[in-house]
Amino acid sequence: MSEFWSDVVKGLTPYVPGEQPRLANLVKLNTNENPYGPSPRVLKAIRGAVDEDLRLYPDPNAEALKEAIADHHDVTTINVFVGNGSDEILAHVFLGLLKHSQPVLFPDITYSFYPVYCGLYEIAFNTVPLADDFSIRIADYARPNGGNIGGIIFPNPNAPTGRAISLAEIEQLLQMHPHTVIVIDEAYVDFGGESAIPLTHRYPNLLVVHTFSKSRSLAGLRVGFAIGHADLIEALERVKNSFNSYPLDRLAIAGAIAALEDKAHFERTRKAVIHSREGLVSALDALGFEVLPSVANFVFVRHPQHDAEKSALALRQRGIVVRHFKLPRIEQFLRITIGTDDQCATLINALREILA
Ligand code: PMP
Repeated sequence: MSEFWSDVVKGLTPYVPGEQPRLANLVKLNTNENPYGPSPRVLKAIRGAVDEDLRLYPDPNAEALKEAIADHHDVTTINVFVGNGSDEILAHVFLGLLKHSQPVLFPDITYSFYPVYCGLYEIAFNTVPLADDFSIRIADYARPNGGNIGGIIFPNPNAPTGRAISLAEIEQLLQMHPHTVIVIDEAYVDFGGESAIPLTHRYPNLLVVHTFSKSRSLAGLRVGFAIGHADLIEALERVKNSFNSYPLDRLAIAGAIAALEDKAHFERTRKAVIHSREGLVSALDALGFEVLPSVANFVFVRHPQHDAEKSALALRQRGIVVRHFKLPRIEQFLRITIGTDDQCATLINALREILA
């Protein structure tokens, strides 16, 4: 800590580096990456983009990628924003779209970066408790704080629970708050959820945020996008252009376009993850775990007789990393990313030993 730091910086806690361990041969089931590699067409496109043109700045609007995303989701390019992973887009959303003078709402158990962005930009927030079964209950968002709110944001499916709400419920929320920006973070939607993107045609206050890190196997490339009414997108462009006019580099643009083009690879790997999830859920269930219903590429589980932190440590000693959150109400849960069938089998064998 330095006397030169601002109060905001003094309050920041750096991201735990242990979540990205640098050990070889780990069964890495802690940060919801895809166990399958990206499409070979992505690798080819990136290699193809490694040429003399790297001396030139990339397209400041990443227009070719925006066109590919717009085509894919049946919108136009003025409805598309792209950024370095959805984390960067979410940062712009908090800065530019959610009101700072009134509290922003999100669930009490949700993506841990939301309160971080609020701290960074000095945005007030209120959390809305999840129901007893860890689901988001839309009725609880009806008129908190007398309806005086700065925006609503949550992932669907939610993280780290994996539970999703229906499009009908999202539409109910949009109708409750027609003058409030509502952001649905769909990082995990391709593993069995329903995307709210079609609703953006009818609700100018809805922004849907996606990432290439999960279902497109490109966490290392850092590409995300948001879809919404042109006015919402313009706000994000204004934020971005006020400090960085280049959203993505040439390799990221080339790779992301190729990822969208290879629909067969996307379908195959997405279905393989869903299939492995079904197997993992039954195996965990047979070991006595309570498994929350998940439509994501991870499961959120607790064992009535075994301490979650101890189990996570015992797994780590066996070279398997899963996520444990030391947070009230969920300290007895583990979040486990769906790996390949082999990785899931390794995990189950290790848990069988640990629980014995
Ligand atoms: N939203 C949620 C709910 C997430 O879990 C994550 C990744 N951990 C992100 C957004 C950010 O993903 P990325 O920056 O890789 O796009």
